[in-house]
Amino acid sequence: MLDSAPRVVIVGGGFGGLAAAKALRNTDVRVVLVDRQNHHLFQPLLYQVATSVLSPGQIASPIRNILRRQLNTTVILGEAVGVDIDRRCVFVDSADRAGVALNYDYLILATGASHSYFGHDEFARFAPGLKSLADAVSIRNHILRAFEQAEAEEDPKRHRDLLTFVLVGAGPTGVEMAGALAILVRSTLRSEFRRVDPTQARIVLIDMAPRVLGAFAESLSAAARTRLEELGVEVRLGHGVDLIDADGVVVGGERIASKTVIWTAGVAPSPAGKWLKAPTDRAGRVRVQPDLRVPGHPEIFVVGDTASLDQDGRPLAGVAQVAMQQGRYAGRLIRRRILGQPAPPPFRYFDKGTMAVVGKGFAVLQTGRLRLSGFLAWLAWAAVHLEFLAQSSLRVSVFVQWVWLYLTGQRGSRLIVDHHGPSRVDSPSIVFHEPS
Ligand SMILES: Cc1cc2nc3c(=O)[nH]c(=O)nc-3n(C[C@H](O)[C@H](O)[C@H](O)COP(=O)(O)OP(=O)(O)OC[C@H]3O[C@@H](n4cnc5c(N)ncnc54)[C@H](O)[C@@H]3O)c2cc1C
Repeated sequence: MLDSAPRVVIVGGGFGGLAAAKALRNTDVRVVLVDRQNHHLFQPLLYQVATSVLSPGQIASPIRNILRRQLNTTVILGEAVGVDIDRRCVFVDSADRAGVALNYDYLILATGASHSYFGHDEFARFAPGLKSLADAVSIRNHILRAFEQAEAEEDPKRHRDLLTFVLVGAGPTGVEMAGALAILVRSTLRSEFRRVDPTQARIVLIDMAPRVLGAFAESLSAAARTRLEELGVEVRLGHGVDLIDADGVVVGGERIASKTVIWTAGVAPSPAGKWLKAPTDRAGRVRVQPDLRVPGHPEIFVVGDTASLDQDGRPLAGVAQVAMQQGRYAGRLIRRRILGQPAPPPFRYFDKGTMAVVGKGFAVLQTGRLRLSGFLAWLAWAAVHLEFLAQSSLRVSVFVQWVWLYLTGQRGSRLIVDHHGPSRVDSPSIVFHEPS
């Protein structure tokens, strides 16, 4: 690789950034991929780490290992903190240096999203969200510890608060998490405790919307709700939370006492729009052109959750497929420009369908006009999720774990492990209130 080859800096090794890097595999460019984590994370299965189905190593892989055969690509562990669009450089903080300037000829920003508490950042202290492996392990620790504390507690009056789990937000993450929690308490844990009955644990799913899974067809929302209620989940719709504090939540004027509240509601894009001083939508996502470039800057692309693009009059959703297809498109467009080939037609998202799983052996699926709920949808969900895991070793390991869980009810990862690592920079610190 010539030192004079154009340099493409990609910030973010999630779904969008990784797809962009792979699309540049056989191109005469020097790719530098910067991520603040050393791993690519398969976020759709984070809830399974939080509910002890899978261990962290089963849903994440080191980015440099995934790209080990891609010799034109260098992976840097560091946090991008700004962009100088005039000097064409990204500033990166690494372990021992701050603000190192990384020059680019092309820049692809794929920095994803973090939690949004809709203006109530004070809730973050008591209701952590689920976005990173550290979040998932912290939530897993807390759920398992709640059962341990209830078992150690002689006063049965305190068991109720300890074993009430509240999820705020009934989108796919909230629904999947509630279903998995219900299965955890009603199958895996049910025979292991003596003073408390885990099956009596209360799981409450709250949303201000009138139905769960609002982005799905009404018939699928209704099927998901029925399934959740069969699993014993209390579904409370039509009211947002008024308050979250150390003693639980207040919703629709009623207090629900709980020591475990999990935020599964909003997301906020990364600060890429601020770095670029580019136009953003109301949520703060960078408004990109139909070829994913930033207006006035043909060398800068923004893809995935941090980009905003309308298709057929509606904004594209923040889902993995959009990010992957956009990353691939940006990489291919750069390749064509370098080869002097004509530009491709504008980006168009090909919707392969949307799914959400609700407990064991049940999912909802919609694609085109097809609406499916039940076991067949769950099989499709399992196949698609296995296919999109980053490496074949993860596919095998997750498949074996799922079969084992399905047959025996036994989970892979139920250890309470405290990692006292640093908090992420742009998200609120994850501090659960410990039961007193
Ligand atoms: C719990 C959960 C469940 C989900 N379930 C589904 C699902 O079932 N189906 C689906 O399609 N989608 C799902 N999604 C959404 C999907 O994961 C996202 O749409 C997708 O990850 C977006 O890809 P991305 O590349 O834009 O961002 P990400 O995949 O989030 O990648 C962003 C990357 O950028 C890095 N980064 C961020 N800021 C910086 C910085 N300043 N410097 C360096 N690196 C940085 C991060 O470490 C990360 O690796 C889920 C999301 C969550 C959180």
